[in-house]
Amino acid sequence: MYTLPLSKGFVDLLIAYLDNKTPMYKYLYAFVFYLIVAGSCVLPLGSLAQQLDIIDLENMSSEVRTDPWKAYLRIANFEEQSNFDDNDEKLWFLIRKAQAENLLYLYNDFEQTLASAYQLISHTTAPKAVIELNIFSGILDRRKGNYQSAKTYFLKAMSLAQSHQLVPLYLFAKQEYAYALSLLNQYEIALTQLNEAYSLALELDDEFTLAVLNETYGAVYGYMKKNELSVSYYQQALQGYTKINSKPYTAEAVYGLATTYRYWKKYDLAISNFKHYLKIIHFAENSDIDFYGNYGLAMTYAEKGDCVRALSIIETALVLSGELDYKVELLKQRARCEIKLGQLTQAKVSLSEATKMFIQLPELKDTTWEIEIDEIRSDIEKELGNYQLAYELIVGYYQKRAKIEADLSDERLAGLRNTFELEKRDAKIKLLQEQAKAQALEAERNYENSIAQQYRLALLLLFALIVLIAFLWQRRNTKKFIALSITDSLSGLFNRRYIFELFEKAFYSISPENGSLYILLLDIDNFKKINDNFGHAVGDDVIRKLSGICQSTLRNEDAIGRIGGEEFLCILPRIDNQQSISIAQRMLSNISQALFTNNEGTKFNVTVSIGIAKHSKACSVTKELFLQADKALYYAKNNGKNRVVLFDDITH
Ligand code: GH3
Ligand code: MG
Ligand code: MG
Repeated sequence: MYTLPLSKGFVDLLIAYLDNKTPMYKYLYAFVFYLIVAGSCVLPLGSLAQQLDIIDLENMSSEVRTDPWKAYLRIANFEEQSNFDDNDEKLWFLIRKAQAENLLYLYNDFEQTLASAYQLISHTTAPKAVIELNIFSGILDRRKGNYQSAKTYFLKAMSLAQSHQLVPLYLFAKQEYAYALSLLNQYEIALTQLNEAYSLALELDDEFTLAVLNETYGAVYGYMKKNELSVSYYQQALQGYTKINSKPYTAEAVYGLATTYRYWKKYDLAISNFKHYLKIIHFAENSDIDFYGNYGLAMTYAEKGDCVRALSIIETALVLSGELDYKVELLKQRARCEIKLGQLTQAKVSLSEATKMFIQLPELKDTTWEIEIDEIRSDIEKELGNYQLAYELIVGYYQKRAKIEADLSDERLAGLRNTFELEKRDAKIKLLQEQAKAQALEAERNYENSIAQQYRLALLLLFALIVLIAFLWQRRNTKKFIALSITDSLSGLFNRRYIFELFEKAFYSISPENGSLYILLLDIDNFKKINDNFGHAVGDDVIRKLSGICQSTLRNEDAIGRIGGEEFLCILPRIDNQQSISIAQRMLSNISQALFTNNEGTKFNVTVSIGIAKHSKACSVTKELFLQADKALYYAKNNGKNRVVLFDDITH
């Protein structure tokens, strides 16, 4: 049951048609059926009902296999009219109904009808009926995967048929038996059974039996991978079925032919046969009947490499009722195609759907069908570049597969060996192993590269740090140098050159129209005496301390420099007469209040004189302004020292 479809098993493989139906669907079905039956009573079809009273249920077997749908309607109509007083009549009714249901893929109904029929069997039941029921039971069991039990039913049917010399039934049971054997991989015995049956059928000149036997040969040779033989037998079967005009059997043989072509990799022939099958399968009013045709077509397109077509047919098939194990195969194929088309996310979705479906199929646990999920997953990981994981998955897959194969018969294993499967497997593992190794090496190389990169980065940072330190050091030196070049070493104030430079800049940038500029010229009073009385060093100390007092008295925007022995020049921008005098006075008083110390520790006071001049239109060059300040200072000296004089206040 869980083998891929080959022709003989095809009808069987549709078993779950009604299993998957919702009750709602069943009611709908019953309603439609009721309408058809009811309609046939009132419409012209009513005349047909009259004829049904005389239908020969026992012998209408060939009518059923020619057009099971039409026969099914007739049988159902017959049931309406009959009250079945006779148990045998009821039994034959059920047997024919079961036969039709089997051919119409109404497998659930088939099973129920069969069960009802069994209840009617007694020791008086005709052997013919018992034989047919045994054959049906075998078909049911085979469909469920219970091949051993199926074999028993077929053998029982064969022995009963033989003892009652019912040759056509014997042959039918024998070919079913042979087919069940082939499903158990016992091909040689299967073929012997078929050969025996074939000789008898030839003697009998029974077109239908010969066609069924040819079809079974086709299926068995298909399993044995003898494709040419398989095709030729299927073609003979087709000729026979066409001759007797059997719709379901013709469709079945076309499907078998298509499947052999598919496994033979003759994809175009397989596709045309699957398409043909999909056309002729509509003898029954059942849209889900398209499932298996679409299944075969989709798988063939995928195997041919036409994944785009395959994916679209898979979508069509997945919405139809079909067996779960076929649906799961479709999902796996969808994943493979999606990998091929680079749709890895979708492939993962397909695989997870398939995995979920396998949970509902516990019989398939640890079969090749299930473990193939790992093989496909390995392909996805490989595409994602995760070679190590891909390698682990594929090795796991082959280990599980090896275990499954070991459990199979030697014959099957031998078959497998013949088919280069092992070489293919080894090659695949080796490739992935190499890719995983390459990836590991790559990772190692990347690691080494990243270490080297880190070293390079560290060196670069170190270099940058050195450059930064050098730069800062240089800048500090430059600053120091600049400071030295503009500073007077004794006083710490600006030197003469620099204060005059600042004076020049201020003088020319601040014109009397757009602002104000004052200069203060300061000279220590009687400095000569300090030098004379306490020594030159004390004089220097006085200059130093006095410089500090001056500097702290000035505003931030003001500048002061030592321009001679004990003479200082201050530049005061943006200020007025009053403020300039006020600053000068404060300087004067701060100095006069400060206490200086001589070498003996004696305290003494120092005073200064300050001349102030304001930048005005009268001055066109710095020298003129300076002279004004000098004149004011001179005036201060001449008028008692220790005072501030504004040039403007001097009467010229
Ligand atoms: P006045 O009140 O009129 O300014 O009198 P003064 O004694 O301060 O005048 P003068 O300009 O004649 O004297 C300045 C003295 O300053 C002369 C010089 O010896 C002394 N001197 C110049 N430079 C320095 C110096 O760097 N250190 C010391 N200790 N003395 C200096
Ligand atoms: Mg002086
Ligand atoms: Mg002086």
